[in-house]
Amino acid sequence: MDTQEDRIVTGEKLDEDVQIDLTLRPKRLEQFVGQEKIKSNLSVFIAAAKSRDEPLDHVLLKGAPGLGKTTLAHIIANEMEAPIRITSGPAIERPGDLAAILTNIEPSSVLFIDEVHRLSRPVEEILYPAMEDFKLDIVIGKGPGARSIRLSLPRFTLIGATTRAGLLTGPLRGRFGIVHSFEFYDTGSLETIVLRSAGILDCEVTGEGAFEMARRSRGTPRLVNRLLKRTRDFAHHLDKTIIDLEVAKYALEKLEIDEHGLDRIDRDILSTIIDRFNGGPVGLETLAAAISEDSGTIEEVYEPFLLQQGLLQRTSRGRLAGEAAYKALGKTPKKDQSDLFPS
Ligand code: ADP
Repeated sequence: MDTQEDRIVTGEKLDEDVQIDLTLRPKRLEQFVGQEKIKSNLSVFIAAAKSRDEPLDHVLLKGAPGLGKTTLAHIIANEMEAPIRITSGPAIERPGDLAAILTNIEPSSVLFIDEVHRLSRPVEEILYPAMEDFKLDIVIGKGPGARSIRLSLPRFTLIGATTRAGLLTGPLRGRFGIVHSFEFYDTGSLETIVLRSAGILDCEVTGEGAFEMARRSRGTPRLVNRLLKRTRDFAHHLDKTIIDLEVAKYALEKLEIDEHGLDRIDRDILSTIIDRFNGGPVGLETLAAAISEDSGTIEEVYEPFLLQQGLLQRTSRGRLAGEAAYKALGKTPKKDQSDLFPS
């Protein structure tokens, strides 16, 4: 789910964009930019598992959308030289769906479950013994004659990705031996990513152009790649062969991404809290209704970056505009709010 993408990418463009996304995806750990702690730990665990000739322990990848969880799951499979099977929490509707996947899995392969927090309870319960003992408990028949049999499964590595780690149940979280949280990327890393992507897409970008796109991409590789693709379109429209600072700024303006990397919805969220709810606190559902956005999207896609930047605060009474939000939007806190942010 990525509404920012949906707004920038429309109609037929999507197919082409999905294709491009696949080509931009790094394949090996050394091509994966940033997230140094995750990479260095993972390379140790992968080397150790390979030397023991065992599959890697189950891995949980947590972090906001577009930070590279799916990419890293593919890289892990590549590095382990293991086949990968991809599915997602909502796609596994019934326990039988998961049983079918698990009984068909190749030994030592990687099973990637995106949005793992959205697995239903009955499905999760099938997963516990599968993760822990590589066993599958299935019930045959119905009513009093029903009996349960236990099948052995090949050893495999489950990689779960989640944007909402807080929604994972304790027992599921506890069954992952390796847990990594993704951080937003710094501008330098995003600059490296955008220059690498430009090389793959065969378009020329100046250092200043790359820096401008990087610093306004909300710390997110997916967004910097999207921005590059759309900026390339604008360069074409302007009859320019090189993406320089001027072209990058032109594209950013057309895409309504401001100096701070905030897009229209980010600004809507913040200005609504400030102007309509007196700076907050305001409940998530009320806020969502006020800007006609889905509350889940606000929470999953928009808030993590706003929180990280100090633009927004989450309190038990609701959302509060941070001091940085007033600065970013050029607003002054009202008198009764100024004690929230003593200078
Ligand atoms: P997520 O699964 O966390 O939503 P993805 O793995 O789909 O994110 O990443 C989105 C895009 O961003 C990928 O297509 C990939 O090209 C790019 N990307 C993500 N992380 C990195 C990285 N560390 N280095 C280079 N490119 C990256």
